Formats: sequence, C-alpha cells, structure tokens
Amino acid sequence: MKITDVKAVYPSRRNKGTGAWQEYYWQIVVRVETDAGVTGYGYGGGGEPGKLIVNGHLRDALVGRSIGSVDEIRRVWDHLYYKSLPYGRGGITIMALSGIDLALWDLLGKAEGRPVYDLIGGLKKGRIRAYATGGDLSRVRDLGYTAVKRSHKWQSAADYDSAVAQAARCREMFGRDALLMFDCYMSWDAAVALRMREALDEYAPYWFEDLVTPDHLNELAELRPRLAPVLLAGGEHDFAHHAFAAIARAGALDLWQPDITWCGGITAGLRIVDLARSHGVPVCPHRGGEIWGLHLIAATDCMDLAETHPDRWSGGEDAVLLDEPVVSEGSIAPTDRPGFGVTPRPEYA
Ligand SMILES: [Mg+2]
Repeated sequence: MKITDVKAVYPSRRNKGTGAWQEYYWQIVVRVETDAGVTGYGYGGGGEPGKLIVNGHLRDALVGRSIGSVDEIRRVWDHLYYKSLPYGRGGITIMALSGIDLALWDLLGKAEGRPVYDLIGGLKKGRIRAYATGGDLSRVRDLGYTAVKRSHKWQSAADYDSAVAQAARCREMFGRDALLMFDCYMSWDAAVALRMREALDEYAPYWFEDLVTPDHLNELAELRPRLAPVLLAGGEHDFAHHAFAAIARAGALDLWQPDITWCGGITAGLRIVDLARSHGVPVCPHRGGEIWGLHLIAATDCMDLAETHPDRWSGGEDAVLLDEPVVSEGSIAPTDRPGFGVTPRPEYA
C-alpha cells in the first residue's frame, strides 16, 4: 500500500498560565492515510511547530512511499531522520517524527490485523505492573498500585525534610515491598543527591530520576556509583538511539527512560532497547503506561513496569483517545485489537 496523505492536528489545550512547555508544545495526533483505505494514528510531540513540521516537509517526503513491512517502516524512519537532520536530530523535529512513526506501526498492524506488539516480537508480558506518578496517595492505593513515584523539585534546604516526609508517608501507606521513586526534574545537584541518598536511606528509594540536565553526562557518570544502590534514571529528554549511545559511552545512567512519543516512536524505541540490552541497562519508558509505550514494554525485554499518571484520567477536554487501557489492581495491559487498538476522539481523527 502507498501513503496518500499525512496530517497532524494539535488538540487545543487550555493554557493554564504556568509557563510550562507542555502548555505550548504538547502532543499532536498524526494521521496517515493509504490507497488501501487503511488509516493509522500516532501520537507525537511538539504542539503547533510539530504540526507544521509533519504537515510540511515530512508529509512531502512521505506521500507516495510504500508501507507494507516492518523493514519499510525502518527505512521511512531513516529517510525522514536524514531529510530533517539539518534542523532536527532531536527536539521538536523528532517529537513530530515520533507521531509519524507510531501512525505507521498502527497502520501496518491494522493492515495485517495484528496488534503492534505482535509485529515487534509478540507478547512477552501479560499484565504489566503499573507505577503511579503523582496522584492522591489514597486513590493510588485504592487502585491497587504497588509502585509510586513522587515529584521532588529542589528549592531550599527544607527540602531534605520534605523528601523524608514524602518517603515516610509512602512507606506507611504502601509498605516495605512497594517501589518508591523520586523525580527531581533536573533540580538537584551532586551535593543534594548525596545528602538525599543518606537522608532517605531507611526508606530504600528505588531510583532518582532526571537528577540534572541531560547535558551533564560526565557528572552523572561520576555520581552514579556513589548513589548505589539507588539507581540513577533518565532519558525522557533524549532523542533517538544516538543520544542513548552517548549515555551508554559515558556510563551516565543505571536505567533508561525514553519517551516513545518523543524519542522517535517504536522504531527508535526498538533500537534503544537493543542498545540497552548490549550494555545490560534496564529500560522503563517514560509514560510507558500510555498505549504507545505499552506495546513496546509488552513485546520486548523492557522492565515489567509502566508509568501512569492517575491524575490525568479525568477525561474531559484533554482526553485525546476514547479507549485507552487503564490500571486495575495495580497493573495494565494493551488489548489485542489491531495496531495500537485505540481510537482518537472524532475531532482529532
Ligand atoms: Mg520524569
């Protein structure tokens, strides 16, 4: 089948006035149509600029190309990466390319009547353990979660105590066996991390995430052994397998967290998982409980752990998909419907 059209839309979001980048450059929905009458949908990033990149240069590079196999999707990815390289390689361009890649996997799955996990190796995990990022802890406990991650942005020395208080509360509610993680969102430094490691020792945190910016690979590599057994996690702001190869060369992280809707889609995700395997590094995709990462986790040797945001299930005007799987009894699974098995709301389809 041949690609006949490619179109991205940016679902409108209320600007809440926080100045956060997500209010400007959040997820786009990409639709790819073919002469076989099959339509694929993917989820990429980059907001209005991402939409312009898809609907302009990348669309023109795609229309007329043939899509009928996994190898052809890989070739398309390489073609688009190369074509956009002078202004791309990362950032909004690769976030936009991610949406196209995911739409192509959805398309191929639908054409063959197979779920995406089946196209990339078959189902290796049934239900996947979910972890809750944020959310009201009582509600998270009621949903059966056994793994939680709390946001902890550093502001002042009082934050050692606030981290300890958060950890104590989580252990009290979820017990010793639960996984407990902290997302620092690039707000800690080496001194803070080492003192946190000590202060939180009795609460046995599993990982510290996004400790400093992704440009500090050497600093992360130096810090990593000093924080053990707490793992240094990161990678949501890194793009394609090239960035993860640099992380591997530096020995910067214990655990990789590519975002499948930003880093280049399933094609990039598979290459990152291959690279991680060769370095013995576990992969736990950022937002892996959303359907795009969930298929990758289900079919590969990614960790049996999927990130979910219980607070984002309120639906309403921010919801883009009608039928995404949700967590029950602390776990989540993709359906066996063809492609990614999800339907965008009609206004985005
Ligand atoms: Mg994070």
